[in-house]
Amino acid sequence: MRWNNKGEIMKTCFNHPDKEAMSVCRGCGKDYCKQCLDEGKEYYYCKNPECQKLLKAEVPFRELPEKIMCPGCGSELKLSKEERETGKIHCSECEAFIDFNFNPPKIINKENYVELLYSLNQGDIALIQSMLDDGKIDYYIVGGNFLSVRPLLVPARFIVNENQLEEAKELLKDFKLNIWGASTNQEE
Ligand SMILES: [Zn+2]
Ligand SMILES: [Zn+2]
Ligand SMILES: [Zn+2]
Repeated sequence: MRWNNKGEIMKTCFNHPDKEAMSVCRGCGKDYCKQCLDEGKEYYYCKNPECQKLLKAEVPFRELPEKIMCPGCGSELKLSKEERETGKIHCSECEAFIDFNFNPPKIINKENYVELLYSLNQGDIALIQSMLDDGKIDYYIVGGNFLSVRPLLVPARFIVNENQLEEAKELLKDFKLNIWGASTNQEE
């Protein structure tokens, strides 16, 4: 047991027994130091994947505005519907991937991301998104004009964390793809 300088029992970080805990993780109820916690809207969450899921659930990313400033380069970005919903942004100016699921937004090292597939079909894109979400795949969507009701003119490219590439392929393997080189003249 440890005591702080006021002589009170000091709660210590679950990961760092030598550090004073800043707060408790809302997900698992354990105490953690500042470094081990991510701040949600009201609560803190640890890095445990299950707790990170709760963090994401807490922050309603559909509330991301239509335009946002890139934390990487400062340019004003117009967000697609998907970007606003997922909080995962690709900046066309500095090519950074930014994850607004974290506070402050996390700038991702793009070297760790590889292209999984691309699609021009909005129905497929929505389906792929939900499959990747369910499989807890870390992905970004690059390009695509999601605001259009017409078939996309620019394909939406799915970029995944290279550590999860095989896992992502496995998840989508039974999905009947008309997306590997999709055609532009599909009916609505
Ligand atoms: Zn936790
Ligand atoms: Zn810690
Ligand atoms: Zn940027």
